[in-house]
Amino acid sequence: MPLSEFALIERYFRHRGMARADVILGVGDDAALLQPPANVELVATTDTLVAGVHFPDGSPPASIGHRALAVNLSDLAAMGAQPAWALLALTLPEADESWLSEFAAGFGSLAQAHGVALVGGDTTRGPLCVTVELLGHVPRGCALTRGGGATGDALFVSGTPGDAAAGLALEQGKLSAPAEARAYLRERFLRPTPRVALGQSLRGCASACIDVSDGLLGDAGKLAAASQAGVELVFSDLPVSQPLLAALGEQRARELALTGGDDYELCFAVRAQDIARLNATLPPSQWGYTRIGSLRTAPGAVVLRDDGSVMEFSHSGYQHFA
Ligand code: ADP
Ligand code: MG
Repeated sequence: MPLSEFALIERYFRHRGMARADVILGVGDDAALLQPPANVELVATTDTLVAGVHFPDGSPPASIGHRALAVNLSDLAAMGAQPAWALLALTLPEADESWLSEFAAGFGSLAQAHGVALVGGDTTRGPLCVTVELLGHVPRGCALTRGGGATGDALFVSGTPGDAAAGLALEQGKLSAPAEARAYLRERFLRPTPRVALGQSLRGCASACIDVSDGLLGDAGKLAAASQAGVELVFSDLPVSQPLLAALGEQRARELALTGGDDYELCFAVRAQDIARLNATLPPSQWGYTRIGSLRTAPGAVVLRDDGSVMEFSHSGYQHFA
């Protein structure tokens, strides 16, 4: 007997993620009732994953559940916010119980890890599509934004960008790599790590922040544009992982670090006078971030090579594997 919509919600989504005392009414009524703490600003974001567009058809359901929440957690991380409540709008071609169970587990364990309660959503039939709305909060006046940077600020990135794009290319059979590198890179695409603790720790320290979802060069450019500045990156300073180097070699690994998407790392700017405090309170070796360049006067984004020449980028990350 096919699962009714009511039974499906009850079985897989009623008690997902963290049980929170500030959820007055969660899944089950017409809308959720939530009690934000005093002296905060609410922070709200939503992102949709469409099958065949944002993940390959046939992706592991646990990965789809994880990524649907992770991309939203990453947005809140970039604002320096504390995530709290999620809504899940799910469009499914059919009520496949083993798919649902794995999807809900992937979503639920990431929600649990970040103290997020699933408080509502919507369930419809149609081509597979997952939309998550995530709500959180930040102390009044303390949110990070894209627009707070200024010419002369140092620019940093967390993690090792490019890994997820290589992982996706491996998933799609467009790239080959040694077995160990393959496992690591696939995992970076299937289960990205939203930098929620880093984002919150950067409050009062970073001047501007953005999460890297569409490629470092483009997203750093967006931060710079919002800050009415340009951006200058140093090619040889771009952090790349050993597995990415093993798969692509140094030149292509750094190109992919610049242009590949789906990493969900943070790119942030810091005033020159705040860099010592950043390094002292958030040791780079412990927090895993690297200086990659600066904001500069001229508009646009440029990448400098060691020999002082400027690199031109006309290709997106996808085209590397076309
Ligand atoms: P309504 O028709 O009033 O919108 P629904 O029957 O769609 O109510 O949903 C019933 C309850 O289940 C609501 O609280 C809704 O937020 C919740 N819900 C529906 N789908 C999901 C889902 N995929 N995940 C979490 N909660 C859901
Ligand atoms: Mg509804």
